[in-house]
Parts: sequence; C-alpha cells; structure tokens
Amino acid sequence: MRTLARAITGLELPAIEKISEDQSEDPFQILIATLLSARTQDATTHAASTRLFHRARTPRTLARLTVKDIERLIYPVSFYRNKARHVKACCRMLESRFDGRVPGTMEELVMLPGVGRKTANLVMILAFKSRRNICVDTHVHRISNRLGWVRTKLPEETEQALYRTTDQRWWPLINLYLVTWGQNVCRPVYPRCGDCAIARECPRIGVRTPS
Ligand code: SF4
Repeated sequence: MRTLARAITGLELPAIEKISEDQSEDPFQILIATLLSARTQDATTHAASTRLFHRARTPRTLARLTVKDIERLIYPVSFYRNKARHVKACCRMLESRFDGRVPGTMEELVMLPGVGRKTANLVMILAFKSRRNICVDTHVHRISNRLGWVRTKLPEETEQALYRTTDQRWWPLINLYLVTWGQNVCRPVYPRCGDCAIARECPRIGVRTPS
C-alpha cells in the first residue's frame, strides 16, 4: 500500500474523490454523485453531477425536480432513467425520514433507495471520515483477487474478506488506491504488468494476458 501511495501520485483521481474535494466533502453531494457513478465513466459522472448540482444542491430542492428533469440533467450516465428515479426517491426519504440530512450509519444509508453497500461505504469514508469501512467496487474486487489478498467471486464477499485480511489503518484508502491503479495500470483487460510498481509483490492470480 505504501508503494501504491507513491505510485498513484500525479495520476488522475477517481471522479468521486474529485467531487468530494470540489464539494468540500458535502455528504449529500457525495451520496448523489456516487449513485450516478455506477457503471459510468468518470468524466461522464463528473459532468452529470456538476449539471445536477448547478440546478439543485439540497435534498429539498432536488426532490422538487421531476424525474424527467433529473433524467435530462444526468444523461448520458448509464441507466439514467433508473438513477433519476432513485435520486428523487432518495431525496424524498432524506426529507421525510432524516430531516433533510444524510444519515451517518451504514444501517440507515442502505435504507435509502438505490443505495447499496458500495455507495454507503464510500459515503461513510469520504463524507463522515470513517476509518472502519472498505468500499469495494469492480476494481477493488478484481485487483484484490489478482494480488491474492482474497479469493472471492463477488464484491460483497471481497468486502468481508478484506476486513479479515488487511490492516485496519488502510481500510479507508483501499478504494482510492486500487480504483486509481485499476483505471491506469491494473486494467480489467490487458493489465500493464510490465509497468506496474507492485509487480514484484503480485502473483497475478487469474491474469492471462499481461502486457
Ligand atoms: S502486476 Fe499486473 S496483475 Fe498485478 S497489480 Fe500489477 S498490473 Fe495488476
């Protein structure tokens, strides 16, 4: 992890990290941007979030928009119709149940429409500075398995396995480091093993075509 910390210096940060910095770690905007980011390119997530927050920045103002308005603002993120419905329903629940605030526990966050463990963990880490959560997306799942840290089939299993196999001081950083590495070097197809700073520590489990 220390080697990765040095290696990612100067690389493009994941979209949610940028949004988190831009929005002074506002929990609501981090939550909504994370909802938009699923299966969507970083640049598209960033642009869609910026358009949406330019129009409405709070659960109350965003809940007043129609689903069609939200669709138009977030297009072309993947599954924009579903995501628009989730964003509106999520804002309504924040208003009706949480007094317009993003709740600060996993149990409450996963009650929100469209919010699974990945989104909830990232909100806990970025917005609430939790040191007890690991956010696992496809990059973290893939690279943890290639490195041999875990042997799992699903991201949900990877999250639980990482709690057992990694040192807690790294938990809030695993997502940032591995997502950045996954976008730039340890790509899903044709990982750049020849240019990889941690190649000596990596058994490359399941990698068939390293370049
Ligand atoms: S050596 Fe290859 S498989 Fe291992 S972390 Fe680096 S890029 Fe990924």
